[in-house]
Amino acid sequence: MNRLSSAVTAMKSHYEVVVIGSGYGGAIAASRMARAGRSVCVLERGREFMAGEFPRTPFQGAEQMQYNTALAQIGSPLALLEVHVNDDVNAVVGCGLGGTSLINANVALKVDPRLWDDVRWPAALRGDQAGRDKGYQRAWDMLEPSPVPGRFRKLPKLVALGKSAEALGMADRFSTPPVTVTFEDRTNAAGVAQKACVGCGDCNSGCNYDAKNSTHMNYLPDAVAHGAQIFTGAAVHSVVRSADKQKWQVAYQLVRLGRESYDAPDLFVTADIVIVSAGTIGSSALLLRSRNEGLSVSAMLGKRFTGNGDVLAFAYNTDDVINGVGWGAHVEREIPPVGPTITGLIDHRDTADVRDGFVIEEGSLAGPVGAALV
Ligand SMILES: Cc1cc2nc3c(=O)[nH]c(=O)nc-3n(C[C@H](O)[C@H](O)[C@H](O)COP(=O)(O)OP(=O)(O)OC[C@H]3O[C@@H](n4cnc5c(N)ncnc54)[C@H](O)[C@@H]3O)c2cc1C
Ligand code: SF4
Repeated sequence: MNRLSSAVTAMKSHYEVVVIGSGYGGAIAASRMARAGRSVCVLERGREFMAGEFPRTPFQGAEQMQYNTALAQIGSPLALLEVHVNDDVNAVVGCGLGGTSLINANVALKVDPRLWDDVRWPAALRGDQAGRDKGYQRAWDMLEPSPVPGRFRKLPKLVALGKSAEALGMADRFSTPPVTVTFEDRTNAAGVAQKACVGCGDCNSGCNYDAKNSTHMNYLPDAVAHGAQIFTGAAVHSVVRSADKQKWQVAYQLVRLGRESYDAPDLFVTADIVIVSAGTIGSSALLLRSRNEGLSVSAMLGKRFTGNGDVLAFAYNTDDVINGVGWGAHVEREIPPVGPTITGLIDHRDTADVRDGFVIEEGSLAGPVGAALV
């Protein structure tokens, strides 16, 4: 696949739609808007990584970390993994063309339907099951999730999770969930050639084998094929109404290695519609900065954050060999397949109270990170 991003000199001064961010939110919006015939510009603060450019060694892994603290931004603002360090909640998000889909664990589970009844969802969404089902189907058709195939069913970490399910009396709840990974060489739904997963276990530091179905592999090429332009290293500072109130004015800065974001004079592009899809933290920060520039926003902006409820547990010196650290700098066949980050599931969501439900999944650590543990 060729690079998707264009040189910033190719940017026009006005688009019908400007999309901020290129994760699931931004990439899907860009694809849909481009397919609808709109002129679309995607602004992504991170860089475009191609297969082979993701970190393999611990040193490269350290180079691809950035820490966002109250006191300072540490590390390159173009680094792949951004850690927000706060007093009460810390969070990891992706930075790059494809957003957090570049570094997530690929599991594509449909939520418990009872969660849609929560009154905090907009009434229109709650009441529209047919629309939700259609949305699920569209995403499924493009992201193409599937359970790991037979050749990965004997992975030590998956077998160990099966044993754990038996020990917990939950063998009937054990399964291999759909993951957004390609398991055979093929051309995907966006017309992009992808390779079969080799099971390196490095999904959390980016796939060097073109096998992870990140938005860089599907929705973003689809958007470009339908005329969208993508610009990377473009960090949006704020969005406000233009002086004549006729359009949106998007202020951004070009992010370069060694240069702080948001400290140079802003550049501008205008749009009829702006889609803010910079992730939970990125979108809130962007809207808070926009509020300082005069944008009218809800008083609830920036309040009531929660994490996604994940709890990570680590085991070591286990009786059974787990092989839970990704290949990193090892070449194919040097060590046995680890498997995609997550391959198994113990599903305990059918509790009387939906809030008591949980799932247990096994996992592997990406080589550039996990090497520090072995
Ligand atoms: C390690 C890890 C594992 C995960 N595993 C799973 C899993 O297995 N299954 C699952 O369902 N979910 C998983 N998740 C969660 C899931 O990946 C995220 O919820 C999802 O990717 C968020 O998508 P998004 O589009 O909202 O935001 P993002 O994908 O974070 O996209 C936001 C984009 O906006 C860009 N951006 C931010 N600020 C600006 C700005 N000012 N200007 C321009 N661009 C900006 C960012 O660089 C980024 O590309 C995981 C998350 C992590 C961190
Ligand atoms: S296990 Fe390796 S090859 Fe397979 S999707 Fe993850 S990173 Fe790509």
